[in-house]
Amino acid sequence: MIQTVLIVGGGIGGMTAALALARRGVTVTLIDSDPAWRVYGAGITITGMSLRAFDDLGVLDEIRARGFVHDGMRPMKFTGEPLGPPMRAPPGSPPILHGGGIMRPVLHDILSMRVRAAGVAVKLGVTVEAFEQDVSSVNVTLTDGSNARYDLVVGADGIFSKTRDMIFPDAPKPQFTGQGCWRIVADRPPEIDRAEIYFGGPMKLGMSPISQDQMYVFLLEHVPGNPWFAPETHVAHMAELMALFGGNVPAVREALGEDSQIVYRPLEWLLLPDPWYQGRIVLIGDAAHATTPHMASGAGLAVEDGLVLAEELTGNDDVAAALSAFMDRRFERAKLVVETSVRQGEMEIANADRMQQTGLLMTATKALAQPY
Ligand SMILES: Cc1cc2nc3c(=O)[nH]c(=O)nc-3n(C[C@H](O)[C@H](O)[C@H](O)COP(=O)(O)OP(=O)(O)OC[C@H]3O[C@@H](n4cnc5c(N)ncnc54)[C@H](O)[C@@H]3O)c2cc1C
Repeated sequence: MIQTVLIVGGGIGGMTAALALARRGVTVTLIDSDPAWRVYGAGITITGMSLRAFDDLGVLDEIRARGFVHDGMRPMKFTGEPLGPPMRAPPGSPPILHGGGIMRPVLHDILSMRVRAAGVAVKLGVTVEAFEQDVSSVNVTLTDGSNARYDLVVGADGIFSKTRDMIFPDAPKPQFTGQGCWRIVADRPPEIDRAEIYFGGPMKLGMSPISQDQMYVFLLEHVPGNPWFAPETHVAHMAELMALFGGNVPAVREALGEDSQIVYRPLEWLLLPDPWYQGRIVLIGDAAHATTPHMASGAGLAVEDGLVLAEELTGNDDVAAALSAFMDRRFERAKLVVETSVRQGEMEIANADRMQQTGLLMTATKALAQPY
């Protein structure tokens, strides 16, 4: 069985893999290039599959306490009228039927504290200078000049993964979709007790509770030329986009000000072909399959990757067989999320029929509810 693992990248995927492996008795070192190990201050939606994965990782209670878990979604017309009754999970139903949200830094805090408590050696402000592998190990030189051998290296360094560039120099590059995502942290009125998604307008807008007193609002804007938005223009730009919406949106718009926490990201995607490993170096999370937020499932996929990798590696003495078994469980699932999410964005840009868009999402969501 493998005994030592280096994880490159301490995001959601890397931290999950670190925790899951350490709990199975593996000696884990985790490095992150950010000396302060920060994460930007935006909200994240946690779908049923992500809640189930966090439950399996043993952090769901803390997510409930420091984030927000609810039992459904309220569809709205962009002008503010409900589009039917809210979807509801039956009382006592499993996490897969629920939804939720949390601030990224809060999730990072929950996971990083567990990682340290599990005895993982965390090294910050360093990255990999070079890998050299043979049949039984990988010799890794870090940018601080240190050098060590590991049974396995996990590249969890996100969409712009350097690990991917090093082992697969000809891999596809991230592609811009034509949409950008705006996120604003706002006070949560008690009536926003579940995700509220506004359909039928010039763009998709949603609100998602992230704590007892906060929510975040997202807007997906069609931005064909991938423009850069200067930070000092963000508030006015948000106010202009939100002016088109009714319901609970005008109250958020009126509260916008210089102190508003607004984050903008152009949407990009990438799906690395099977296999995501070369020898004893394997990629997980966004490094292998970066998706757009249309299914809000990127975090869930990354957590599942970490859990499945630990399960396959510790149940198998043959690393090649374990990584092949990992791919058998991960590739089609990640492909479904990435392709459905990208297609959803294309349909939004083309203003395609809403029932068609919902149908596509429902089919994929049903498939993801199956065991991973
Ligand atoms: C706009 C937007 C909104 C989203 N909303 C949602 C949502 O609501 N719900 C959801 O589930 N998903 C969402 N996602 C997707 C989700 O954020 C990602 O799928 C998830 O963060 C992937 O985790 P990861 O650990 O693979 O990568 P990351 O979270 O990117 O972590 C990578 C880590 O690696 C480190 N790193 C980078 N390069 C190096 C290097 N060379 N050496 C060492 N360390 C390095 C970074 O500092 C970072 O800590 C969204 C994505 C976008 C773009």
